[in-house]
Amino acid sequence: MSQSRQSVALLGATGSIGVQTLDVLRSELERFELVSLAGGEHLSELAAIAREFDVKRVAVKSETHRATLADLLSSDVTIVVGDEGLEELAREADIVVNAVMGFAGLPVTLGALAAGKRLALANKESLIAAAPLVAKVRATPGAQLLPIDSEHCAIHQCLASAPRRPGYPDVRRVLLTASGGPFRGWTVEQLKGATKDDALHHPTWSMGAKITIDSSTLMNKGLEVLEATALFGIDVDRVEVVVHPQSIVHSMVEYVDGSVLAQLSRPDMRLPIAYCLGAPDRLDHGYGRLDFSTPLTLTFEAPDLDAFPALTLAYEAARLGGAAPAWLSAANEIAVEALLADEINWCDIVPVVAATMDQYEAQDLDSLASLYENDDVARRRARASLKK
Ligand code: NDP
Ligand code: MG
Repeated sequence: MSQSRQSVALLGATGSIGVQTLDVLRSELERFELVSLAGGEHLSELAAIAREFDVKRVAVKSETHRATLADLLSSDVTIVVGDEGLEELAREADIVVNAVMGFAGLPVTLGALAAGKRLALANKESLIAAAPLVAKVRATPGAQLLPIDSEHCAIHQCLASAPRRPGYPDVRRVLLTASGGPFRGWTVEQLKGATKDDALHHPTWSMGAKITIDSSTLMNKGLEVLEATALFGIDVDRVEVVVHPQSIVHSMVEYVDGSVLAQLSRPDMRLPIAYCLGAPDRLDHGYGRLDFSTPLTLTFEAPDLDAFPALTLAYEAARLGGAAPAWLSAANEIAVEALLADEINWCDIVPVVAATMDQYEAQDLDSLASLYENDDVARRRARASLKK
């Protein structure tokens, strides 16, 4: 049995998705072998995971991190460093879980696909920023891109019955569900007093800090609109956001004949993680199983675009294309970092992103060099907007 195990790289192992992936792997040791890890600042946690799973290849951010980690691990563990280290590990395993936070996950996304591996993608920022470059490497023989993001994993499953025609002409619209976050129902006036602590309390999901803040501004949903267009090649005008506070319908696809397909479960990220690891098989865990013998209320409403302008910014970036999504995501990372460091208020986040996007001038993304340059310029403009 062990000879047929698939090797797994878990990059971003110490975070929310990383820890939940480890939970799935612990119960599937006969099927998967964890062979490599990457992490950021939590080096003692990273070392503990490496010891538990007997992992011999680990990537860290810098030489300083390497020295600290080396003291915690036996000498037969190889520690690689930086973007090159991440890419090296992403090229080696059968299945690569990209659970890194933010644009830093780019080498993982590009490396895994370019090497013809299965990429189980949680890191939406890399796909959004680099969509034209990702589209090219996705054509590598063997490359497979499966979304861990729960909405996109749902859409992927709902599209399974669609004829495989480019752009999915049989699909009338993709209905991307949103919990609405902690501030659902708040007025524009009330939102002026929203705090970081309020924003960090998500009603239905427990996640890393950045995505929790993104959920409170609905920028996460905006990023997910961009993610859906990049993943499925469906034009943005057929992607609609629907607020569904229970987080049970993870998204829906409406076909031109009027049929709506949905994927349901209680909120549990281990379900989409296990789906991406096991596909086309279904792993027998029942994560988030629903009980239909007790009352289940599902409600749907339109998002409040006046209160949550991040959604409109994301649609605009999608229509602009080129480097606009990369700018949006980069500016948002800077603004969220500033909130988490108590440098700005919650209500400043989206204005910082909007002020950055106002300075965007249309340009194509035709190379990795142009992506890094755009990312750098967008971050500098966003930092300048923070000070205003
Ligand atoms: P966390 O902040 O909890 O975890 C991020 C992980 O990335 C940590 O392991 C962190 O290491 C690691 N990391 C950060 N920078 C680097 C780097 N330069 N090199 C290597 N590792 C790095 O985030 P989440 O798990 O919540 O989210 C991860 C991604 O998944 C995000 O893109 C998010 O949008 C997406 N996602 C998350 C969901 C969730 O439920 N959490 C749902 C859907 C999507 P360390 O902690 O050691 O610093
Ligand atoms: Mg999501």
